[in-house]
Amino acid sequence: MGKKNDAQAGSRQPATDVVHLGRDPASQYGFVNTPVYRGSTVLFPTVEALKSRTQAYTYGRRATPTTRALEEALTALSGGTFTMLAPSGLCAVTAALLAFVRAGDEILMVDTVYQPTRAFCDSMLKRLGVTTRYYDPLIGGGIRDLIQSNTRLVFVESPGSQTFEMQDLPAIAEAAHARDLVVIADNTWATPLFCKPLALGADVTIEAATKYIVGHADANLGAVTGNASCAAALNQAKEDLGLSIGSEEAYLALRGLRTLDVRLRHHMQAGLDMARWLAQRPEVARVMHPGLETDRGHKLWKRDYAGASGLFGFILKPSSQKALAAFLDGLELFGMGYSWGGYESLIIPFDPRSYRTATAWKAEGPALRIHVGLDGLEDLKADLARGFDRLNAAL
Ligand SMILES: *Cc1c(COP(=O)(O)O)cnc(C)c1O
Repeated sequence: MGKKNDAQAGSRQPATDVVHLGRDPASQYGFVNTPVYRGSTVLFPTVEALKSRTQAYTYGRRATPTTRALEEALTALSGGTFTMLAPSGLCAVTAALLAFVRAGDEILMVDTVYQPTRAFCDSMLKRLGVTTRYYDPLIGGGIRDLIQSNTRLVFVESPGSQTFEMQDLPAIAEAAHARDLVVIADNTWATPLFCKPLALGADVTIEAATKYIVGHADANLGAVTGNASCAAALNQAKEDLGLSIGSEEAYLALRGLRTLDVRLRHHMQAGLDMARWLAQRPEVARVMHPGLETDRGHKLWKRDYAGASGLFGFILKPSSQKALAAFLDGLELFGMGYSWGGYESLIIPFDPRSYRTATAWKAEGPALRIHVGLDGLEDLKADLARGFDRLNAAL
């Protein structure tokens, strides 16, 4: 399906790729979209076919035409050779880790990682005899000093969850590969349109497709894409774990993918504009957005990324919990809730002090993470401006 399209991926503009990848109208009676194939059992016409298992589809858990269309699209977009889909972004992360570790191994995990990833390392991986050492996101090539004889892999997430530190993936990958380690990157913030970790030295890249790829806050989904050296291990993990997603979810991700380029470009422009506006506000101590020239990760972002999504952080000047609640509770256009990457705008307070261990989080006041959605930007600014009025009145 879509073989001709997939072979051309990367040589065309990303906007063209997301419109055409994983789609083959000729094999669907001319219908534009790959439909939702519901199914578990797949029939084999002969004993010979049953034995050889060479037909395109053998069992619904392994693949349907809908899930395969998404796998092929993401493999091509990420520049990899194999994609395994998972029912959530977190499951993509945990399955990717399980694909490579064995008892006695140590993994190097960035301290600013998505908090549930950390929880998995500290609970299930620990129980299975795998230890986790957390490292400073700014370590770069210095990661070589942490590598021990039992270190198996390095996990990167850039920019960091909530606090947006940029990581030097090429430097980390070079040091890791000198010791034969596997490098895994969680690329959810940038999506494969704005960053291609496999081209920067990672062996495996992970997307929480829940965010921008699905893009409409209506499904959870994850994807793990590996290069040729990791394809067998990932496929084995997929088979061993019985990792499978429904075709309905795959369809939603394919549908989101078609508009990913235009949506992301809007999120980027609106996010940068909002970040600059916030940086000027007297109530704001600083903004954490690698796309801003003033951000300490800006050079790495410019070198390695083709764009920024609409998610970033900012820190208020010292203010009471009462003032913070007055700011947030009255917002009309911004919702408070987990996840991001949909069309809607979100804001959430956070405090990483209770769980980070390799770095110390120091902030002038309350920290907030904001997702600039597809609403009108002036309306969003007015909503926040009214919030700042409430904050100032409650100080
Ligand atoms: C949201 C997120 C995940 C997990 O995705 P879910 O679908 O919510 O499980 C993983 N990594 C990052 C960086 C995320 O932001």
